Amino acid sequence: MGHDFQFERGESFGEWLHKEMLEAAAFEDASWAMDRIRRVEARLQADRLESNRLKVEIPWLEEVTAFTAPGRDIYFSRRLYEVCATDEQVAFVVGHEIAHHDLGHVALFHGWTDKIVRLPGATLFALFFHGLERLVYGPQKECDADRHGLDLCMSAGYEGRRCLELFDILEQRALYIGDLDMVYGPDVESDDELDKNARWTTKAQIWAWQKKSGYLPIRDRRQLLMKHLAAKHEGVQPSAAPNGGPASQLGNSGVTEGPPSVS
Ligand SMILES: [Zn+2]
Repeated sequence: MGHDFQFERGESFGEWLHKEMLEAAAFEDASWAMDRIRRVEARLQADRLESNRLKVEIPWLEEVTAFTAPGRDIYFSRRLYEVCATDEQVAFVVGHEIAHHDLGHVALFHGWTDKIVRLPGATLFALFFHGLERLVYGPQKECDADRHGLDLCMSAGYEGRRCLELFDILEQRALYIGDLDMVYGPDVESDDELDKNARWTTKAQIWAWQKKSGYLPIRDRRQLLMKHLAAKHEGVQPSAAPNGGPASQLGNSGVTEGPPSVS
């Protein structure tokens, strides 16, 4: 399951990682939090066999992030979780992480495990939550996971546009802490740097930046997903421009999130 693999003493990588994470941080168990996450993870995976489903854990830590790795667990930081105002926003985070499994991305961890397993627990934990996943997967796979994750949300009946309100929260949070690069990327004039029609020099510039930082600017991620939503709508209803079109009022939520990454 989940591209997990056996290693030392018959333990799987996923089991080993889970044990290490449990030692390094407290996991949330309050019923308000667990009810919501179980509700969302069940809805997103309703059509999957029990044995193929992933499970979300919510470790208490300050980093605003989520990640997954070989095994059956998704780790969703408590700080990110508490700023998600709706089930749709939670679903987008979880859908993105499920997508890394569906798309085979987690298999890329194989090449890293020798190094990973030698790290002391606290270092390992910090490494994961500071974006190892983004470095392992890279920007292109992060984009793919965004799209597939959003598709999973919509297949489960969540409204796509409401899922993307997560990016409003991420953006406000990043602006609050003063991380303008996180929001805009290297080119503040453009939200369309990843558009297929963008000039190649623009693309080269942003991909180089992504390579260095390991993540995409929030606005580019949101913009790509708005286009994805628009394309899906066009496919279904050629003449309709639902809710005023893809670029209409996206950002009206008032919550905040932390820096980077829903990786
Ligand atoms: Zn990711």
